Amino acid sequence: MRLMNTFKLVALFVIILFIEFVLAELSVWIISENGQVFFDQSIINSTFTLYNLSFWINAILLTILSTYLYSLKQSNNLTLQSQLIKNDRCEGIETTAFKELGLSQADQEFLHEEQQEQLEQMVQERTLELNIALQELESANRELAKITTIDELSGLYNRRFYDQKILAEHRRSRRNLTSLSLVIVDIDHFKSVNDTYGHLAGDYCIVWLAEKIKHCLGRSSDIGCRYGGEEFCLILPETDRQGAISLAEEVRLAVSADVIHYQELKLSMTISCGISTYQQQKGILPEHLFSAADEALYLAKNSGRNQVQHKDLLETINSKEQLI
Ligand code: GH3
Ligand code: MG
Ligand code: MG
Repeated sequence: MRLMNTFKLVALFVIILFIEFVLAELSVWIISENGQVFFDQSIINSTFTLYNLSFWINAILLTILSTYLYSLKQSNNLTLQSQLIKNDRCEGIETTAFKELGLSQADQEFLHEEQQEQLEQMVQERTLELNIALQELESANRELAKITTIDELSGLYNRRFYDQKILAEHRRSRRNLTSLSLVIVDIDHFKSVNDTYGHLAGDYCIVWLAEKIKHCLGRSSDIGCRYGGEEFCLILPETDRQGAISLAEEVRLAVSADVIHYQELKLSMTISCGISTYQQQKGILPEHLFSAADEALYLAKNSGRNQVQHKDLLETINSKEQLI
């Protein structure tokens, strides 16, 4: 728009300059070198008047045109400066480098878009790699958690997990005023199984019993652990004395009623269970719970094995204190 206006002004200036030139030539022609005059005085006067008029019009036009061009240059400078400041902010060193290379604005924009696309692609690739790495890390963590909490032979939780879980469940039971039962399961005369059929047969029996236990633990909150050797601990949250006895009986019956097929052998096995139940009795700690269940197991063994026994927590502690 501004350029159009400039062109118009320049065109007008040229036209008037041409008129002025014609009039000047006419004056020279009218007044010849030897001073001879061809026209009458009125024509000569009007030619001079026109020449003077065109001179002043041109002078005014020249002033307007130079002022206009000056203001146009100033405003262009300002636009360029603000553009440069903007570019410098965004691209910093990059702009300077482009300028030094003598690249045009269009080239710079093209390069900028290309760089942005490459950057986006790189970010996408990195994100994908990162996600894969995270998945691998997650599965490695799961594997690690499994190794540290699961017993390799039986597939039940291990002793370390039992130690942590019994503390947590005891605290939860005390806070929520709910009962917590602990069952200790021990295979009867297991030494003779190993001695008669070998340790591999013994291992097979441990795995077999673990499967029976897993099958009988109905609630998701029930926790089956291999405490060590042929001993298992069942942590039963929100389970009272009677509930724990029922579950232990279910496991005992499932074991005694079934036959273990190991190679060509048919083995039969029995278990004994000792139980204790925490029901907000004062001064009871997780080790008291284990100690009472262990006493109950001892009672079951001494009473002929293949049975379930329960021991009262406070009775057990008091009898132990009396012995001390
Ligand atoms: P009780 O009825 O009094 O419990 O007699 P028991 O023979 O089961 O008890 P004892 O403590 O005398 O023997 C336990 C045996 O369990 C001894 C050991 O060889 C065996 N045992 C412990 N851990 C494992 C194991 O991981 N695999 C095998 N095969 N045997 C094991
Ligand atoms: Mg034992
Ligand atoms: Mg045993």
